[in-house]
Amino acid sequence: MSPRLGVLGGTFDPIHHGHLVAAQEVLHQLRLDRVLFVPAGDPPHKPSRPVSATHHRVRMVELGIAGRADFVLSRVDVDRPGPHYTVGMLQLLHREWGPGATLYFIEGTDSLADILSWHRPEQLIALADLAVVQRPGVEVDTDAVERQLPGLRERIHWVQMPSLEISSTDLRARVREGRPISYLLPAAVEGYVREQDLYR
Ligand code: ATP
Ligand code: MG
Repeated sequence: MSPRLGVLGGTFDPIHHGHLVAAQEVLHQLRLDRVLFVPAGDPPHKPSRPVSATHHRVRMVELGIAGRADFVLSRVDVDRPGPHYTVGMLQLLHREWGPGATLYFIEGTDSLADILSWHRPEQLIALADLAVVQRPGVEVDTDAVERQLPGLRERIHWVQMPSLEISSTDLRARVREGRPISYLLPAAVEGYVREQDLYR
């Protein structure tokens, strides 16, 4: 059987319930076999802030998805030399999973709205379908993007999810400012953030 795989790339600094609910809804609604969580090695989109060390972000993903056989950590991006463009990551996954695999790249509307600024977006939509979830407050004009990137629209699968206004940026700010983060992310991930003294 040819595997149907969701691919959720992210910085995961830290992983939170927005990521997990998005992955679960895509898995269910598109009837996928599993979702690969792919921490970014050296995120080209975030040069402006220091990102936590790779081993911390990988560990938080492991803790966040523990116990779900259909959620799988992929080290494909952290174990390769840069630059870490998404197209290269998808090519490696195709090589790893074989020609029959169908990849659904999962992203929020904030990320879709940026797609034209990504490296080789036309190649990105050739390598994977897009499973797009609404990021609260971020609308995207797909007609306008389609004009710049013909073929985009037919690659998009819209997936509904309960709206969760959670972001890693907000979680880091909360920790820094001594505000609570419980229930916004898995308890084991919160425990790790505390134990490793991250985001202070
Ligand atoms: P940061 O604030 O550091 O950018 P983030 O919360 O946006 O972190 P990312 O690792 O940047 O998390 O996101 C990875 C992917 O998950 C992106 O495609 C993003 O749109 C999606 N995503 C993250 N949080 C949510 C959420 N609450 N609802 C829907 N999609 C989300
Ligand atoms: Mg983000």
